[in-house]
Amino acid sequence: AATTVHSKDQKDNLRSPICCILGHVDTGKTKLLDKIRQTNVQEGEAGGITQQIGATYFPLDAIKTKTAVMNKDNSQEYKIPGLLVIDTPGHESFTNLRSRGSSLCNIAILVVDIMHGLEPQTLESLRLLRDKKTPFIVALNKIDRLYGWKETPDGAFQESLAKQKRSVQREFEDRVQKTILAFAEQGLNAVLYYENKSFARNVSLVPTSAITGEGVPDMIMLLVNLTQQRMSDRLMYLSELECTVLEVKVVEGLGTTIDVVLSNGILREGDKIIICGLNGPIVTQVRALLTPQPLRELRIKSAYVHHKEVKAALGVKLVAPDLDKAVAGSRLLVVGPDDDEEDLLDEVMSDLTTLLNSVDKSGRGVCVQASTLGSLEALLDFLKVSKIPVSGINIGPVHKKDVMRAATMLEKAKELAVILCFDVPVDKDTEKLAEEMGIKVFKADIIYHLFDAFTAYNNDIMEAKRRDAAPQAVWPCRLKIIAAFCKRDPIILGVDILDGTLRVGTPLCVVTVDPTTQKKDIIDLGKVTSLEINHKSFDIVKKSQSGGGVAVKIEHAVYESGKMFGRHFDEKNELFSHITRQSIDVLKTSFKADVSTEEWLLIKALKPHLNVQ
Ligand code: GDP
Repeated sequence: AATTVHSKDQKDNLRSPICCILGHVDTGKTKLLDKIRQTNVQEGEAGGITQQIGATYFPLDAIKTKTAVMNKDNSQEYKIPGLLVIDTPGHESFTNLRSRGSSLCNIAILVVDIMHGLEPQTLESLRLLRDKKTPFIVALNKIDRLYGWKETPDGAFQESLAKQKRSVQREFEDRVQKTILAFAEQGLNAVLYYENKSFARNVSLVPTSAITGEGVPDMIMLLVNLTQQRMSDRLMYLSELECTVLEVKVVEGLGTTIDVVLSNGILREGDKIIICGLNGPIVTQVRALLTPQPLRELRIKSAYVHHKEVKAALGVKLVAPDLDKAVAGSRLLVVGPDDDEEDLLDEVMSDLTTLLNSVDKSGRGVCVQASTLGSLEALLDFLKVSKIPVSGINIGPVHKKDVMRAATMLEKAKELAVILCFDVPVDKDTEKLAEEMGIKVFKADIIYHLFDAFTAYNNDIMEAKRRDAAPQAVWPCRLKIIAAFCKRDPIILGVDILDGTLRVGTPLCVVTVDPTTQKKDIIDLGKVTSLEINHKSFDIVKKSQSGGGVAVKIEHAVYESGKMFGRHFDEKNELFSHITRQSIDVLKTSFKADVSTEEWLLIKALKPHLNVQ
């Protein structure tokens, strides 16, 4: 289905770049979108700005009008035919949507509040943009909030700045410097866009106000220049079809429909298409291609305009049979006359298959559920880095069967009997079932919030487990007796720590060998009940602290009269902590992170002495 066109004269074959907006909550993403959509002309959609499905299209005329203040001498070159801006701001998942390996989004606007600097979600967005190698600019928004700012509505930024009082200019410079420093901490070279000598090397900061519109012309101009410079020819011209499912939606009268972004190529009514489905690939035929009715046409009954064919880039609603199980974030392929359908089926399923392969083979792990393939991928990447195992994945709303699946973890590892829900709804009944069964459901639309909530929960459970297990944990140590202060009931000895750490609660023993029979005997002395150095009490004494000797009190919990120094053992015997198979297992399951490599080595060395397999 590919028609690659190289002739640069064929203006009809130019395609528009796709732009996404992301950044921390409340930085002004929605307001900026509103501002750039806003037309100054009464007629509503003057300049041809059109509302599409999940996106707004800016044709070249609209771009030229909006950037006129930046192009007074008419020297600007416009090569792109228009710009498609994805409407739902703040969704990392859109940036993470891929078509054929590269990001769906050709360029991104990362919005930063000039008064707040880089915030947690800004960092998450940055990580995503870098991972996907998506070119981006930074809108340093809310400049009108600088103290004493005098507005020039919809003005070019540098002209506005020149009109400000010196104190305002100084505050601006100050905040820009702070932002630049914060970006430097993230390993990025950020500069004011009009001082940027290399788009490839530096991130451009463009100061904006979504309220006054100042800097918005600069921002649009920058998008034009950056896409023209950084987008390859492949992206500039209509070629192979690239299409991605943004959302799966039930619409009254239409059934299940999919909202797609056509980022390249042409899509026609009647095309045979293939998309990824939760239960396998879906092969179906396009019945209708719809975009919203323009605002001024509202008196027309139908809410949609039908199209026989649509050209990239645009957002369109697609009606076809059998879409119920379609996966948001999936690629959409068209079966052409020369295509091998089997190959396409495999290709379209590969994104989901790859994610399924990252599920832990041992069957231990949390369940995760996300809104789209892209957001699921981002979440899985994050969990992998955080070393949180995953046992099950799903896309779309959480249902009872998802809770049942997570419940299988209750016996294996209670702390993992959770569902991490990223940007998906959970209905009341499902939530109730989860609560009854003891499955924790974490919901968030920011990955790191999910992660933080899960980590805190996990720590609580591990801490409770450790408290329960602590009496069974035995820390390895090897001691040399240097004095005996009290020979029995309790035994009080002065010792040197040869290896390991000595803790209150550790059971101590000596190992004796009968000189005639060579029979080995492990004599339990009791548990350490107190430790003192120079009459000062300690709960734990490290080898390095024990130079001057440690006074150890050992009490036998079981026998009235325990073993006796001088009769059952003496200075010639080394004392060991009494390690058993069970005590080692307790350390492994509950205290793994606290045991040092040296301590593991010591445990290994003690095992043969104490007959531990
Ligand atoms: P989002 O969460 O990033 O989409 O942020 P919104 O667009 O909803 O904006 C959050 C709040 O900041 C709203 O109250 C906006 O009116 C306000 N806001 C957004 N942009 C600006 C701006 O440039 N200047 C000022 N003063 N307020 C702004």
